[in-house]
Amino acid sequence: RTREAAAAWRGPGRTSDGHDVAILANVQDGAGATSAAKGQAEGIGLFRTELAFLGNETEPTVQEQAEAYAAVLSPFAGRKVVIRTLDAGSDKPMKFANLTHEDNPALGMRGLRLSVDNPGLLEHQLDAIAQAAKATGESPWVMAPMVATADEARRFAEQVRSRGLTPGVMVEIPAAAIEARRILEYVDFLSIGTNDLAQYTMAADRLSPDLATLTDAWQPAVLELIAMTARAGDAAGKPVGVCGEAAADPLLACVLVGLGISSLSMAASAVQLVGASVSSASLAQCQQAAKAALAAADPADARRAASQALGR
Ligand code: PEP
Repeated sequence: RTREAAAAWRGPGRTSDGHDVAILANVQDGAGATSAAKGQAEGIGLFRTELAFLGNETEPTVQEQAEAYAAVLSPFAGRKVVIRTLDAGSDKPMKFANLTHEDNPALGMRGLRLSVDNPGLLEHQLDAIAQAAKATGESPWVMAPMVATADEARRFAEQVRSRGLTPGVMVEIPAAAIEARRILEYVDFLSIGTNDLAQYTMAADRLSPDLATLTDAWQPAVLELIAMTARAGDAAGKPVGVCGEAAADPLLACVLVGLGISSLSMAASAVQLVGASVSSASLAQCQQAAKAALAAADPADARRAASQALGR
């Protein structure tokens, strides 16, 4: 029955009582965007630009980059597209990012941190995004990965705004969740990357199958940080989305909505299931499920409690 309801679901995303929740897709190139646009995704919540250039030996030119970005903007003309600047390093080695050997790459030079020693890479990328925006007439949002401090957010926001684009940051480091209120003084939106947020909250490698019970987004500490971030967004009147794997979990998606998350971005293959799941619960039920999950002592308990609150 769940599968039938999922197949039959048509967007836009909203709860059973009409509370809007944007259901967005995660993509890595124009082909992915073209394919996502054929389905019910309302936009792109995460364009992982580093994956578009993972095989490149040298830095793509601004023109080459602009073409790749335009290819993702065009299929979603007039709709929301969030472009993430290069998240190179750690589990995503990139040949042209001048990464050096580090003993702990996940805690090292990666994401926005690379722009300190190598500012050109980010400058060129932002120029290319601005060029693609102009060429297509679109207004993409642009966010930085691996932001830990409000000052990093401030500097990034300046660079993005000076090109007429809308800045945001990813919340994937616990410090960013704790500092969300201050970060939101500088940026227009936040997007929680639950894969890395779980990794850094639990000090457990997201790629290690042996640690999967720790890197579960249902962990009370992870849920608490998501709730904290959502509250900061609410206080600032700015949107907070989730673009990690957690958004693709139909039950957790309802909990996230109950916590105040306004958009969910996921692999295109999960769009139907999550859209249908959110549409079958009222906002009050999602809020009950969120409350129950936050009160639970461990992930299994949180899942059970949320499921019960939603009558599933
Ligand atoms: C995340 O960390 O949750 C995320 C969306 O980013 P990525 O998986 O690309 O590191």
